[in-house]
Amino acid sequence: MIEVHVLASGSDGNCTVIECDGEAIMIDAGVSCRKILSLMEQEGVDKEVVKAILLTHEHSDHVSGAGATARKLGVPVMCNPATFSQLSLGNVDYVPFDTARVFDFRGFHITPLPTSHNAIEPNAFLTQADDKNILVATDTGKLTFQIEAALKMADIAVIEANYDNKMLVDGPYPVSLKRLIGSDKGHLSNVDCGNAIRRTMTDANRQFFLAHLSKTNNIPDLARETVSDITGIKRLKIDCLEFPGDTRTLRA
Ligand SMILES: [Zn+2]
Ligand SMILES: [Zn+2]
Repeated sequence: MIEVHVLASGSDGNCTVIECDGEAIMIDAGVSCRKILSLMEQEGVDKEVVKAILLTHEHSDHVSGAGATARKLGVPVMCNPATFSQLSLGNVDYVPFDTARVFDFRGFHITPLPTSHNAIEPNAFLTQADDKNILVATDTGKLTFQIEAALKMADIAVIEANYDNKMLVDGPYPVSLKRLIGSDKGHLSNVDCGNAIRRTMTDANRQFFLAHLSKTNNIPDLARETVSDITGIKRLKIDCLEFPGDTRTLRA
C-alpha cells in the first residue's frame, strides 16, 4: 500500500510525504521544521521513514523549512541545479536531478514533470511505487502536456485548485499580482483544475485531492463545488484541506 500524507497545502506552506513499505519521500518543505515534525506526528508519520526531501521550485512556501528539516532528519535535499542555485539552505547534502530524466530512489520511481510557473525551473512529480502512480502537481499556470499525461495515469492526484476566478478578480490583490496568478506562469484555478480532471477521466477508480487553495481567493466548499460541477464527480468524493493545520492521508 502507498500512503500520501498531505501535511500542508496552500500559500502558507506546502509539504507532502509519500510513504511505501516503511520508506518515504517528502515533496516540498514550505513550513518550519518544528511545524513539519508536529504535522508528521499528527498524521502518524514516523520521522525515521523519510529518506529525502524533493523540491518543486524555489518559492518560500515550498522551501522555507527544507534546510532545517533535512538536517534534523539527516536526509538529502533533491532538486534540479537551477532551483538549487536560487536557494540558501545552509549546510545540506544536495543530490541533483535532471527535470527531463526519470530516476529511482529507494523503492520510488520518480518522474519530474515541468510546470509553467514564475520560477527558474519548476517541476511537479509523478511517483510510482507498489504499482501505483501518485501525482503531486501544484504551482502551474497551465496544464503542461507532461502533467496532463501523468494525470491520466494517476491513482491519486494531488492537483492544484488555487483560486476562484471571481474571488481573484474582486479580491484585494494588486492588479499586477492578479494578472500573474491568472497567467500561464501563475496557478491553476478551480475551473482549470476541473477541466484538467474532466479531460483526463478514465474508468479507473481514482482519487483527486485539491491542493494549494488560496486562503484569499478561494474557499474549500467552492473549489469542491466547481470541480464537481465540471467533472460530475460527487462533491463528497473530492477532498482538500479545510483549515490551517488540517492534514490528510490518502491511500492506494
Ligand atoms: Zn506555491
Ligand atoms: Zn510557486
